[in-house]
Amino acid sequence: MKLQLIGTGSITAPQTSASSLIDDHILIDCGTGVIKELMKQKINIFDIDTILITHLHADHFFDLPYIILLRSFNQITNNLKIYGPKNLKKKVNALFEIGYADLDDVEKLFFAGNTSIVEFDNLEKEINGHLITSILVEHGETKPSYGYIIEKDGKKIGFSGDSCYCQAIDHLVDSCDVSVLECSFPYNSKEHMGPEIIEKLALKGKIIVTHMSLYTRKELKKRNIDNVIIGKDSDIFHI
Ligand SMILES: [Zn+2]
Repeated sequence: MKLQLIGTGSITAPQTSASSLIDDHILIDCGTGVIKELMKQKINIFDIDTILITHLHADHFFDLPYIILLRSFNQITNNLKIYGPKNLKKKVNALFEIGYADLDDVEKLFFAGNTSIVEFDNLEKEINGHLITSILVEHGETKPSYGYIIEKDGKKIGFSGDSCYCQAIDHLVDSCDVSVLECSFPYNSKEHMGPEIIEKLALKGKIIVTHMSLYTRKELKKRNIDNVIIGKDSDIFHI
């Protein structure tokens, strides 16, 4: 599988919001700045047929209206399915209402660009040869918050989304060839993981770190941990 890091920052960092692309067509999270970043990285955004949203925080889904608008303007005929937690559709409609109050019928946009939103409790689905499984992670009071495992040709890549250190993260690192983990905080909190946790998890498996604040990026560099790659926007890996 090809893994491209679109964004690797948290909201306090100059890097784009955390987002990853698998095999040029599966996007994990579409937060603030992601659409512009995809264009900068010269990715054909209309090749993306699947978007997996981890949870309903701005830095993970606020750019969805742009991709829906662009697909509609260009009358893209291949389907785009956006998978995410309950209430995703309502929240995206609310974004359209705030940002484009003059639009009389948002449904027309979805229709014209062949875009749909699929809300789930538990996702296990094969899409174009990729088996996609959701896992419930712990992200403070934000419930549900999902991570994902994507499997193809016997290889598995895990995505933590936003999560504190919990059983699901252990499972992710234990079962995946590579885990793309968030590291937003200087320490482990109820919402996020810190560099110390990343160091412990790296004893068990290969980790690519994303969703970093400036502090955690600097701290991870200082620690120079075996088995850990500090992600940069536009990095590409073949797994
Ligand atoms: Zn979050």
